[in-house]
Amino acid sequence: MEDIHEECGVIGLINVAEAANFAALGLHALQHRGQESAGIVSCQAGQFHLIKGMGLVSAVFSKGETANLPGAAAIGHVRYSTAGGSNFANAQPLLARYTGGEAALAHNGNLARTARLQRELCTAGALFQTTTDSEIFLHLLAREQAVSDEDIARVFALAGPAFAVVLLLGDRLIAARDPYGYRPLVLGRLGQGQVVASETCAFDQIGAVYEREIEPGEMLVLSASGSRSLSFAETLPRPARCLLELIYFARPDSLVFGESPHLFRQRSGRLLAAEQPTQADIVVPIPDSGMSAAMGYAAALHLPWERGLIRNHYVGRSFISPGQEARAAAVRMKNNVVREVVKDKRVVLVDDSLIRGTTTAALGNELRRAGAREVHLRIACPPTRFPCSYGVDFPRHEELMAHNYSLPEIRERLNVDSLGYLSLNGMVGLFGDKSDTFCTSCWSGDYRVPPE
Ligand code: SF4
Repeated sequence: MEDIHEECGVIGLINVAEAANFAALGLHALQHRGQESAGIVSCQAGQFHLIKGMGLVSAVFSKGETANLPGAAAIGHVRYSTAGGSNFANAQPLLARYTGGEAALAHNGNLARTARLQRELCTAGALFQTTTDSEIFLHLLAREQAVSDEDIARVFALAGPAFAVVLLLGDRLIAARDPYGYRPLVLGRLGQGQVVASETCAFDQIGAVYEREIEPGEMLVLSASGSRSLSFAETLPRPARCLLELIYFARPDSLVFGESPHLFRQRSGRLLAAEQPTQADIVVPIPDSGMSAAMGYAAALHLPWERGLIRNHYVGRSFISPGQEARAAAVRMKNNVVREVVKDKRVVLVDDSLIRGTTTAALGNELRRAGAREVHLRIACPPTRFPCSYGVDFPRHEELMAHNYSLPEIRERLNVDSLGYLSLNGMVGLFGDKSDTFCTSCWSGDYRVPPE
C-alpha cells in the first residue's frame, strides 16, 4: 500500500541507565511509523535535554548525539505528519515549562476534537507555537495547572481520542491511551527499569520483555518508587482499536492489541481465498505489504506463492513524477517484475488494501508486459471508501478509488481479469467475540467519535 502513511511512533523509558541510547535504538525499530522527523528528550536530576530534527532516526542521531542526552529517563518520537505540516517546529517530543516544571510530550494519534479545543484554548489566551494537535496536551496541562497524577488524568479525559502519549515530568514517566484505544501502546521491562512503546518490535530491539498493553482509558505513572495505574474515563466505551494497524501499519514481527500482525494477515489471506477464490497458477504478493496475506491466500488454495515482484528498498518514498510514462518508470523503480516467474502464468496479485489504485494499476500492466496470461487482483480488506480522523494520513474522499467507482468500474480501470475484496463482516469475524472492538470507519463510514 503506497497511499496511506504511518502515523507516529513513541517510546519512553525510566530507571534505565543511558535511557536515551535505548530510546534511539527503539526508534530505529519504530521507523516504519514515521520518517519525517525524530527526536528524544532525556532527563537527569530535573534537567531536560532535547535533540530533534527532520529526517530518519539515523540522520538525526548520526554522530552519537545521544551522548548529549544524559539521564535514566527518556522519551522519543518518530513522526509522519497527520495534523500540522512537516517542519522542525512540529517535530516531537514537544518541550514546555508550566506550573508543574518542565514537561516533554510525544503523541501518536489525532485529536478528533482539535478544532474545538484549539478554539477554546486560543479564546482563553493560549499562544500555539506549532500547528500540531499534540500541543493541545501541553496547553491543557498549563490551563488546568495539572501537577498531581489525578490532575494530569483529568487532562487526558479533556483531550479525548485519539491518542497514545508518553509524557516525561522529571521523576515521572506517564503513559496514557485514549478510552477507545485507537492507537497501540505497550508496557515492558528492561532490567530494573520500565519501557513503553507503540509496538513490541522496539522491545525486541533493546532486549526488553513485553508485559502487557496499556489499557484504553488507562494512565500509567512510572517512577523510581514503582508504578501506579489510574483510569481517566468515567465509563469505558466499546473499544475502537485501529484495524489498519493489524492490516498494514504495524511491523509483522510486533505484537499489537495482543495479536501478531503477520498471523492476522495470513488468516485474512486464507479467508479471502474462501470468499474470493481464483483459478490461477501462482500467487504474487505486492511487496512488502501483501506478503503475509498472499501466503495465507496461496496456502488455502494449494497454490504456490512466488516472488513475481521485487521491491527496491533504496528508493525514497517521496519519489513523485508526473505523466503516465514517468509514473510507470517510477513504479518500475520501486517494484520490478521477475519475468521468468510470471511469463505465461495466470497470476493472482494480492495486496493488503487498495487506496488510490494508481500503483496497483501500473503493477498489473507491468505483469502483463512481462507475459502474464491473466492478472487477478485480491485485496485483503474491504473497499476503503472513507478517510480517517484518528491519526492516519489518508487521501481525501475524492481520491479514494472505492469512494468514486463501483467494483466493476475499478476492475476495468485497473485492467485486471477479476477483482475481489475481503468482506467487512468476514474481516472483523476473524476476531470472534472481540469483533466489535475495532474501528472500521474507513470501510464503513461509521465514525464512533465525530470530528469537532
Ligand atoms: S478510520 Fe481506519 S485507519 Fe483510522 S483509526 Fe479507524 S481503522 Fe484505523
